Amino acid sequence: MNVSPQHSPEPAAAADIPASAPGTRLDPWLSHYAERTYGMKASEIRALFAVANRPEVVSLAGGMPFLAGLPLETISEVTAKLLSERGAVALQYGSGQGEESFREQILEVMREEHIRAHADDVIVTTGSQQALDLVTRIFVDPGDVVVAEAPSYVGALGVFRSYQADVVHVPMDANGLVPEALEHTLSELAAEGRTVKLLYTVPNFHNPGGVTLSAERRPQIVEIAQRYGVLILEDNPYGLLGFDSDPLPALHTYDPDGVIYLGSFSKTFAPGYRVGWAVAPHAVRERLVLAAESAILCPSMMSQMSISTYLATCDWRGQVKEFREVYRERRDAMVSALAEYLPMASWTNPAGGFYTWVRLPEGLDAQDMLPRAVTELVAYVPGTAFYADDQGKQFMRLSYCYPTAERIREGVRRLAGVVTSELEL
Ligand code: PMP
Repeated sequence: MNVSPQHSPEPAAAADIPASAPGTRLDPWLSHYAERTYGMKASEIRALFAVANRPEVVSLAGGMPFLAGLPLETISEVTAKLLSERGAVALQYGSGQGEESFREQILEVMREEHIRAHADDVIVTTGSQQALDLVTRIFVDPGDVVVAEAPSYVGALGVFRSYQADVVHVPMDANGLVPEALEHTLSELAAEGRTVKLLYTVPNFHNPGGVTLSAERRPQIVEIAQRYGVLILEDNPYGLLGFDSDPLPALHTYDPDGVIYLGSFSKTFAPGYRVGWAVAPHAVRERLVLAAESAILCPSMMSQMSISTYLATCDWRGQVKEFREVYRERRDAMVSALAEYLPMASWTNPAGGFYTWVRLPEGLDAQDMLPRAVTELVAYVPGTAFYADDQGKQFMRLSYCYPTAERIREGVRRLAGVVTSELEL
């Protein structure tokens, strides 16, 4: 991950398709698309899903949470009761910001990580993915800079690209984003007269990096962002899934006026409800609500009320603890299998979350190797998916969230066979 920041003064609107392109038989509307769509590309992960989902393939690719532990019977009873007793409300439109009583419950969830906020400053979104979109929509003009970790969450990069941001990566190490590197990049960008709109960061159990920003660095990162007048976008879907110690203070805690905080129920409950949230400084939150109303009118009432009932009537803290235990066991299986089968590689040792980030031996290219891996019935995501530029060839993301410990071991064993034969080529 120690790669120097790279950026160019060009806006990210890589015009792959000239605006004057004629229509084709496959797409007669080719010349009509907005410029912002030119940078959009299918996620490498999505393309992989079709293959990786075949039962004979051990998929270490996707980031699907393990849901088998959820009390599905209780959830279905609670949902049936919700519909029969309050169906007319649950199936109705609601507030663009999200229901107030539900936002109060979100505060309770955040308190588990010692994060304090006011319900007025919370906006409920359709997954935190929509919050990423809304924040980018209200702040980023084409050519503005978004500073992001190297590597970064692929879904965030997709959003930044679709708003024609110029993503500038800053390296991480085993302790997360490197403050000196951030300072260096921001000062260079300032000297070039570039406008930096956001610093996007996943401080806890990074996707895909598998690292956590150390306690010592947290106030440093906030101080640097403050000094350069950069708004921090703190994305924290995995914060409650730490294996070892108490949660570290969120960046939001140090500067609630300089940080937009994002949370999600996708990893601690279920992604199918598509419910996440943002906490933003008051004026920003008002604009986010306007943007959300124009996008979707309001978040799903049915989802909000279902989660609200779950939080109020089920032992959700106990459930999160159970998830944590499952993921810890799988993390252990992953790192011990890597140590046993892939000693020629190196990897991060995640203290929570879903992913480890693997560096292949010199000269290997994870993207080139993927077809062979799939033939050997194992799948991963090549590192290149997690950069806005051409870095990452030597890396891959391995997820341990979904397969059982036994399947993880088998997957890593197959992967080691592929790596060994590549090295012999
Ligand atoms: N941020 C990060 C870092 C993620 O890993 C994900 C999901 N993989 C999301 C945001 C989006 O999650 P959701 O929309 O389901 O809340």
